[in-house]
Amino acid sequence: MDTPRLTYDEYTVGWIAVLPCEIDAARLLLDHEHPDLPALRGDTNSYILGDMGGHNVAIAFPGAGRKGIASATDTATNIIRTFSKIRFGLLVGVAGGVPKLPSNKNTMKDIRLGDIVVGCPDRGTGGVIQLDSGKWLQPDKIDVQSHLNKPPIILLTAAEKLRGDLKFRKAKIETFIQSATDKAFELEMEEYAFPGRQNDRLFQSEHLHVTHEEDESCSQCLTDWEVQRSTRTSEKPAIHYGLIGSSNQVVRSADYRDQMQNLGILCFEMEAAGLMDTFPCLVIRGISDYSDSHKNKLWQPYAALAAAAYARDLLRVIQVIHVMETKIVMEVVQKRESNKG
Ligand SMILES: [Zn+2]
Repeated sequence: MDTPRLTYDEYTVGWIAVLPCEIDAARLLLDHEHPDLPALRGDTNSYILGDMGGHNVAIAFPGAGRKGIASATDTATNIIRTFSKIRFGLLVGVAGGVPKLPSNKNTMKDIRLGDIVVGCPDRGTGGVIQLDSGKWLQPDKIDVQSHLNKPPIILLTAAEKLRGDLKFRKAKIETFIQSATDKAFELEMEEYAFPGRQNDRLFQSEHLHVTHEEDESCSQCLTDWEVQRSTRTSEKPAIHYGLIGSSNQVVRSADYRDQMQNLGILCFEMEAAGLMDTFPCLVIRGISDYSDSHKNKLWQPYAALAAAAYARDLLRVIQVIHVMETKIVMEVVQKRESNKG
């Protein structure tokens, strides 16, 4: 039986994706896909509609090739105008991780490819800092004036509940990854499969990537250059909570990455800073590379799928009644604007 077409006002969750693999990953996690709604004048986003765990979700994405902070702000502005009853947002996709290095004495998180980072308040910030705003720039210290808004309470509470579920093995992330991967296989999208731990290679910062013709893989990069780490055999993604660095520039420099790790940044991405102040949301990132010169796209589909599976599980622990009790995004944003004025 076909799913009936809903109205704009029946969608309460806004989900933003940018890269094609992020959009497809979100779509693979839908419980049901809904028929499209007619486009509204002035809205340049594209949408995929559906439901997850009883919530009606509008997945929005900007036009092809558009990325970065300003584009993310436009996407958010459009979605909250078109779907005027949205209560919160999820920004779900991939990011470059900041791995634990033996040379660094700070306590760092052992971030591996395919892991998930959730942007949560940390070090006096709301969970996301804009790296190229320049304002925060002080070695070893974040100017907390420059961070962006915190995620809404309903999402932080849900993330806390899910953290407990993970501990007690009640979380469903792996189940969602499995069912989405199965669906991807049926659709001949084999690239969403787990790429294998042998393809999770972290190189010492001083060894730059060696390119070989068109091949962007690390086939020419030596095993001797790899950082010796404890073996992780499980495919299960680890979930890390903390600070996300957002920037208009792609980070592919181990030197820059290693400088940033003193600030407690767990990963780098390119959209969150455009959203936090216009669209109350939680940022969920699957780690697809280590932000160095070896960065390639091999892990992107799986990392996008893992992040989407986390978001799907988050929606499982959020009760519809609590969503209805949450203020409409449009009203929150208008109130903030009038307070500023
Ligand atoms: Zn390489």
